Amino acid sequence: MPAKKEIVLIGAGLAHANALRALCKSVHEHARLTVVTRHPRTPYSAMLPGLMAGFYTNDDIHIDVAGLCRFAGAKLVVSEVSGIDIHARRVFCEAREPIPFDILSIDTGSTPNTHEVPGADAHAVAIKPVDKFLAGFEAARARLLQRGSAQFVVVGGGASGVELICTMERVLRADLEREGLNPDAVGFTLLTRKAAILDMFSHGLGTRFERILAARGIEVITGKNASRVEAGAVHTDCGAVVAYDELFWTVEASAAPWLGETGLALDERGFVAVRPTMESISHADVFATGDVASFVGRAVPKAGIYAVRQSVVLAENLRLAAEGAPLKPFLPQKRFLQLITAGERYAVGARGRFSFEGRWVWHLKDRIDRGFVSGFKRLAPAAETVKSA
Ligand SMILES: Cc1cc2nc3c(=O)[nH]c(=O)nc-3n(C[C@H](O)[C@H](O)[C@H](O)COP(=O)(O)OP(=O)(O)OC[C@H]3O[C@@H](n4cnc5c(N)ncnc54)[C@H](O)[C@@H]3O)c2cc1C
Repeated sequence: MPAKKEIVLIGAGLAHANALRALCKSVHEHARLTVVTRHPRTPYSAMLPGLMAGFYTNDDIHIDVAGLCRFAGAKLVVSEVSGIDIHARRVFCEAREPIPFDILSIDTGSTPNTHEVPGADAHAVAIKPVDKFLAGFEAARARLLQRGSAQFVVVGGGASGVELICTMERVLRADLEREGLNPDAVGFTLLTRKAAILDMFSHGLGTRFERILAARGIEVITGKNASRVEAGAVHTDCGAVVAYDELFWTVEASAAPWLGETGLALDERGFVAVRPTMESISHADVFATGDVASFVGRAVPKAGIYAVRQSVVLAENLRLAAEGAPLKPFLPQKRFLQLITAGERYAVGARGRFSFEGRWVWHLKDRIDRGFVSGFKRLAPAAETVKSA
């Protein structure tokens, strides 16, 4: 029998977490699994607004990667990956020896693009990584309660920008009221360079949120591109200045800069260019999945729902690669159910051209999200955890 292949998974985002469930049943005959990821728990971002609003605990929204690895018989290395030697087939991590691989899969997600706008890195709190965002939000919340007033600005009019500003509005006004302060002393602005918010979704979804934001006194500035940030002010291409006390950044995702030094073929935004099988277009036996993957010739949205669907095909392809068998393509679905929370137990949904809203939509989203995360909690433990020094 040929020697077992070393499969290394970098990052334990939604795609790898879900793939691990399937891999545990199928892969061990041909391969050994190692997962290298920054944290032993992965946040499920779709539940982040609910955590901010106090509807969920930290435990509710996190997938226990350590437990999942024990269940899947995978070795877990808790460490940050800083690079890959694609020819020597080694992964470099902080504070430990390089990890050798035969087959590699990258699922390091994406972060909002702060480094392309001068000053944004220094002054804005990005929505990812989630732990840093939560610390930034809690600090801004404490400053607001101390001062009694503030202007909150969110840059980015996609789903996460809209969910974020809606949630902040509900949470922070309630905070002020509870402290006997004026709830109207906090202001909110959403800034987007697009002509409309939520323009990647059905028209109905966007119009419903325009109405909700207006009713809550949230200012929406469209068609203006943030081009420079300084303390207290966002400057736009057309010369407009948007004043802020607290600034949050959710605009278009970008990939980790170290990917640029690997020699892997990337797209123009730095994401790993892959075939429909999720294998790199430049290197065999190297896969990318979830937000970090860029499917050549096909626009696959960077969304959790797609990461989870890819994971099923990825698990199979990793097993097939270990066996030396032909790989299968990922075929993205054209329409899916979109559910976006309005910051309270109220949400708006759409499928195709149809949109709808209400408390029941939030409860539907709540059931789906809780069901997804608790599916991981039911898995049983049984193997080795290696922590970096
Ligand atoms: C507020 C918010 C709400 C959202 N709501 C929805 C929604 O309702 N529906 C939906 O479909 N999508 C939603 N999304 C998008 C969704 O969260 C992402 O598309 C999804 O998480 C991508 O999954 P992924 O597997 O690519 O990676 P991620 O889940 O982003 O995980 C990446 C993993 O890689 C690890 N990692 C990164 N770099 C390194 C490194 N150098 N070394 C080691 N480990 C590393 C991270 O720690 C993390 O575990 C939302 C996003 C946000 C921000």
